[in-house]
Amino acid sequence: MDSANSPAILVVEDERRIARLIELELEHVGFAVTIAGDGETGLRLALAQDFEVILLDLMLPGLGGIEVCKALREHKRTPIIMLTARDRTEDKVSGLDAGADDYITKPFATEELLARVRAALRKGVSRQELKLADLIILPEQRRAIRAGVMLELTTREFDLLHFLMRHADKVVSRESILRQVWGYDFEGETNVVDVYIRYLRMKVDEPFESPLIHTIRGVGYVLRKP
Ligand code: CA
Repeated sequence: MDSANSPAILVVEDERRIARLIELELEHVGFAVTIAGDGETGLRLALAQDFEVILLDLMLPGLGGIEVCKALREHKRTPIIMLTARDRTEDKVSGLDAGADDYITKPFATEELLARVRAALRKGVSRQELKLADLIILPEQRRAIRAGVMLELTTREFDLLHFLMRHADKVVSRESILRQVWGYDFEGETNVVDVYIRYLRMKVDEPFESPLIHTIRGVGYVLRKP
């Protein structure tokens, strides 16, 4: 496994046996794992490096899981899964209140751990802003900003722009746009794509100096730098 491409996971857990077990399970499926044995170390590492998911034990000596979570949330939105030894509702609620995304109760099955880590990874990806030239897309807030100006897009226009942005520099066909953005196998007319591309151009390109949406005749469209 090429560790440079493995999603980086931080495990903040003072019980070495549990930390080691989690490390083995996650590394086995291709994650790169860093272990912190206490809250202070965990917080320092989480702030200094970009992890894709953080597994954070609730009960830590010194700086506790809730405090680490709160302190981290002032700076970063890395998905956090709280690990709690107790199946107590108040622990879960206080973790979620502190900004955690999910929690898992110890002892847990490997399948559950992996499923929750994958879900947290997807959440993290959806939070990442996308950039192309002076266009920025914030998927989670469903916002698009060009040259500092917030674009007023309908739901469908946003979905279309988001799709083009995820495939920036690649030519996408009308058919694949229909399938991915409209979400069904469209038989026949693909004119609806052209109509929406026109709407998008009026909002994304025309008010600005340089067009980002380009037509590739006979093939489809591409979003790329001017
Ligand atoms: Ca603990």
